[in-house]
Amino acid sequence: MLNIVLFGPPGAGKGTQAEKLIEKFGLIHLSTGDIFRKHKTFGTELGLLAKNYMDMGQLVPDEITIKMLEQEFDKQPLANGFIFDGFPRTTVQAQALDAFLQGRKTSVAMTLALEVDEAELTRRILHRGKHSGRADDQDETIVRKRVSEYNTKTAPLKNFYKDQGKLQAVQGVGAIEEIFNALCDAIKNKLAEKESR
Ligand code: AMP
Repeated sequence: MLNIVLFGPPGAGKGTQAEKLIEKFGLIHLSTGDIFRKHKTFGTELGLLAKNYMDMGQLVPDEITIKMLEQEFDKQPLANGFIFDGFPRTTVQAQALDAFLQGRKTSVAMTLALEVDEAELTRRILHRGKHSGRADDQDETIVRKRVSEYNTKTAPLKNFYKDQGKLQAVQGVGAIEEIFNALCDAIKNKLAEKESR
């Protein structure tokens, strides 16, 4: 099983690249943001709960997010592997993911970190907000809050994965295809490494 964490700040292009990667490598896309939005749209109990945090640009509490992610993972018993997009976002989530995968006799193979500077992120998100219909993409104060949540709670995870020897940084600025090719190369190298073991 090939499990990849696609890591990066809001607006780094994780969703766009994840869609392309799952097609190429036959993986399942697990985006906690997308799942929360679906729950919001359908007005489920989880969606109503998550809405309070999402609309303010804050992270949904770990316990709720982890439980949801685990349930979604277990819905795909035949998967070749997963792309985790927007998860984990805190050290507690990363530790929970490791423990959970270990319980299923698998692990995170690699973490691909898309690097984009902060000014470009804000510009991209506000631009996306014009078309996406996402309220949290349209208000500059909320966008800044999301980036600040990333900087304080999520960015430290880089060291978590670096210490495990799993972090690979990829430049997230440039043409979508170029970035995609760089991600594909990193994944192919990892697959070759796995096969040679
Ligand atoms: P995203 O689409 O990944 O930018 O996520 C949109 C919003 O969903 C975030 O601003 C959070 O409120 C919530 N969210 C998504 N993933 C997580 C996560 N792993 N932990 C906590 N909150 C999350």
